[in-house]
Amino acid sequence: MTTPPFAAVAERDIQIVSAQLGRPARNVIGIAARCVCGNPTVVSTKPRLADGTPFPTLYYLCHPGATAAISTLEANGVMAEFTDQMASSPELKQQYAAAHEAYLADRESVEHVDEIAHVTAGGMPERIKCLHALAGHSLAAGPGVNPFGDLALERATWSPDVCTCDDYLLES
Ligand SMILES: [Zn+2]
Repeated sequence: MTTPPFAAVAERDIQIVSAQLGRPARNVIGIAARCVCGNPTVVSTKPRLADGTPFPTLYYLCHPGATAAISTLEANGVMAEFTDQMASSPELKQQYAAAHEAYLADRESVEHVDEIAHVTAGGMPERIKCLHALAGHSLAAGPGVNPFGDLALERATWSPDVCTCDDYLLES
């Protein structure tokens, strides 16, 4: 398991994430994955926001090219397809449950928040509800941790290895 870098975040990274999201990025504790050009693709947020709100989504897919490509998969019924795959594969079910635990462990390493102690993202551990969250986890953790995040990235027309940041008016 890769340990994500929850180190100091550069002001420039926060500016780029804010541009990607179209709103000021707050409570950022790290950039968990990047485009080949260096721009953030996954932003990590404090498990408890400064205003006290619990925030379970440690890995948020912030690159507009990535979110658009994953939205296309969702629109094309890929979540139902993956749900069927999981239903017929005990191995996938087990890997997905393990991904949930890995996600929790990463977040616990940052901060324990009681209200979300067993909550992760994307529908884990039993449902597939948001491919953006699963792909974000896969980009942060690397391949082999979240099976459906990996599959979503394989199917997506976007890749962190091919910079499309110019298309989204992001400086690189
Ligand atoms: Zn780029």
